[in-house]
Amino acid sequence: MNILEGLNKEQKEAVMHNKGPLLILAGAGSGKTRVLTHRIAYLIDQCDVNPWNILALTFTNKAAKEMRERVDRIVGYGSENIWVSTFHSTCVRILRRYIEAIGYDRSFTIYDSDDQKTLMRDICKYLNIDTKYTKERTLLSVISSAKDELITPETFMKNAQGDFNQERYANVYMEYQKRLKANNALDFDDLIFKTIELFEKNPEILSNYQNRFKYIMVDEYQDTNTAQFHLISLLASTENEYGEIEHNLCVVGDDDQSIYKFRGANIHNILNFEKEYPKTRVIKLEQNYRSTKNILKAANEVIKHNIERKEKALWTDNEEGEPIAFTQFDTEYAEAEAIVNDIYHATQEEGCAFQDFAILYRTNAQSRIFEEKLVRKNIPYKIVGAVNFYARKEIKDLLAYLKTIDNGLDDIAVKRIINVPRRGIGLTTIDRVSQYAADNNMSFYNALRHANSIPGIGRSLAKIESFVSMIEILKGKISEPDYSIEDLINEIIEATGYVAELEAEETVEAESRIENIEELINKIIAFESAAEEAPTLSAFLEEVALVADIDNLEDSTNVVVLMTLHSAKGLEFPFVYLCGMEDGIFPSYMTLTSDDPTELEEERRLCYVGITRAKKKLSLSAARQRMVRGETNFNKPSCFINEIPRYLLKQTTESLSPKFPKNTSTLGNKPNLPTGRHLAPTHDSGIFGNHPFIQKGFGNRNLEPTMFEKEKPKKVTPTALKGTPHYKPGDTVYHSRFGEGVVLDLQPLSNDYEVTVAFQNSGTKKMRSSFAKLKTV
Ligand code: ATP
Ligand code: MG
Repeated sequence: MNILEGLNKEQKEAVMHNKGPLLILAGAGSGKTRVLTHRIAYLIDQCDVNPWNILALTFTNKAAKEMRERVDRIVGYGSENIWVSTFHSTCVRILRRYIEAIGYDRSFTIYDSDDQKTLMRDICKYLNIDTKYTKERTLLSVISSAKDELITPETFMKNAQGDFNQERYANVYMEYQKRLKANNALDFDDLIFKTIELFEKNPEILSNYQNRFKYIMVDEYQDTNTAQFHLISLLASTENEYGEIEHNLCVVGDDDQSIYKFRGANIHNILNFEKEYPKTRVIKLEQNYRSTKNILKAANEVIKHNIERKEKALWTDNEEGEPIAFTQFDTEYAEAEAIVNDIYHATQEEGCAFQDFAILYRTNAQSRIFEEKLVRKNIPYKIVGAVNFYARKEIKDLLAYLKTIDNGLDDIAVKRIINVPRRGIGLTTIDRVSQYAADNNMSFYNALRHANSIPGIGRSLAKIESFVSMIEILKGKISEPDYSIEDLINEIIEATGYVAELEAEETVEAESRIENIEELINKIIAFESAAEEAPTLSAFLEEVALVADIDNLEDSTNVVVLMTLHSAKGLEFPFVYLCGMEDGIFPSYMTLTSDDPTELEEERRLCYVGITRAKKKLSLSAARQRMVRGETNFNKPSCFINEIPRYLLKQTTESLSPKFPKNTSTLGNKPNLPTGRHLAPTHDSGIFGNHPFIQKGFGNRNLEPTMFEKEKPKKVTPTALKGTPHYKPGDTVYHSRFGEGVVLDLQPLSNDYEVTVAFQNSGTKKMRSSFAKLKTV
């Protein structure tokens, strides 16, 4: 294969540039990543560079994996010797080999965020810091930012002189590093920091790597932070055969796609590259190969509104394509329903593959409704960069509370929350209670109720009793007629301090966890409003279990992909749905109310990233009303929509279904709502015309009465179903992950079966038969 084939003039120039610093600065979809991979192939194939001498750095493991595959395809032989990896894994490899030179043992441990938190908790105790007011997470994020900027504890201390708060942080930072060292442990940021320290203190080790990595390439360069840039610049300095220093460093990036400022990314790394390396060759790529003209125009128009940017002229030879669809729905449920139906239709009837579709949103919490709709339609999906909604820690914790209150028979649930949030009930106590439960053949929760008879419990007894009494009080309340599940969840949050603890952390991660909890509350409200009879806690947990237990990730390539805009960087899909395009969602409420205009610019770059993921068709959508924090919000379409010229847009609006439930608690929240003003006019074909999107179904259908999740699985006669399972209750079956089990029950759902299997080693699970792919044995 000719490596230069299929490249344009500028791309070829970049690929063939084989000496000295190279900066490729170009907009989305212009082939930056492609150039990087072809350049690796070219160096090996045409310049006799040993694959061993090449280092390619990417941002995420997914990107590293993709690049490795692309390189393998072009290079073929020897490609396994190229280092294609993320910054962090590169550093781990180096440190595992040489860290002894800076006084750590090579078997060092890498602390994850839970480990860090535990360590920080001890430090706060030791330094008398009240974690009610200064959260462990806050301290950790101060330290992390310092490390991103390569500030040592000593420098931090020096800079802090005279500022009480800063001095306190400095002490914590000192102590934290001391203890990490004593435990022979590194945190994530240390991986980069310590590698730099290793290199700076040991020039011979550095020069060893400088001579090894004769060619360094960095993708998504706009999102590197100060520490990462410093690491690259240390490495990229090789002595050639004439004894001259060469910087064979090639970085590719797009300042318009810099979206990680909150994690310390430093856009100046791009702007200053030429200063750092005066001999830099700068190549601009201006032709976009990914998207249709309409999509590209929309992206260009939106990003133009940013002031702080390098002007670019991105064009494409691709076809005009379909207009960008923008549909405003009544609710977020209607939005998800229509998108999922659209994908269903396209995959069932138009021969599209699931993997052609991506659903993008601003925050992780938004995945929940899509997951439920996809599960119900039997569409396989995968969430990139995050776990499925119901597998998230905070959701599992709160569901464990609900389960414990519901019946207390699920030992795993009770054990999960016995010490969450922390109540000082330790593992030894839990072991003693478990033993007592086993000896007396009772549930773990029941054993807790008899804690005073358990020997060796000691000081934990009072703590256990207060936990049990909290659960018992809540149990009593939920059996009262007017007490709702929504009341219950709010009371759990209040009584445990779960959200308050997250709030005090003041980190992006904690914020995202709170959003997930709010989304769970939204789900509860929706469930209760849709219930025909008095909604019970058991029924709620059952409904949730159906979605939560489904193992639908088996075929992980041909799946619809769901992810946040941040995770979508660098990827492309034929069909992209960018949902929740509402002021207050995207751009986020925080951005809209911020005094700092650069925050809106960062959100706009995120929007640009989102738009430019689409190859053939981009569908934007918004909901007129959306439940946020248990309250119905009425949002305007995102200001970014207004930045797309009208001639590029095909707008539709969804009118309210006549079956719109009037007496739900959702509307009940706003009793004086002037419905006529907020709820949209009916579809106006005069303005919106007749476009392919409408014909396909998105945006011009009669809404089913499902906007409040009315469609709980309905029992229907089995004959109406296709694909009747080949097993029946009593049969032994095999599941690829859970192993062997016996079918206990088989129930028809509206378009599937729910099968209950008692697995020998994995407990009893309810699954959808089409996803479970059970084999009879
Ligand atoms: P992003 O900014 O989103 O990371 P990028 O600049 O890295 O985008 P690539 O992903 O490398 O762009 O390329 C975008 C798409 O265009 C890919 O599908 C790629 O294969 C294709 N492409 C790039 N250059 C060419 C070319 N010269 N001819 C045909 N297709 C091309
Ligand atoms: Mg790329």
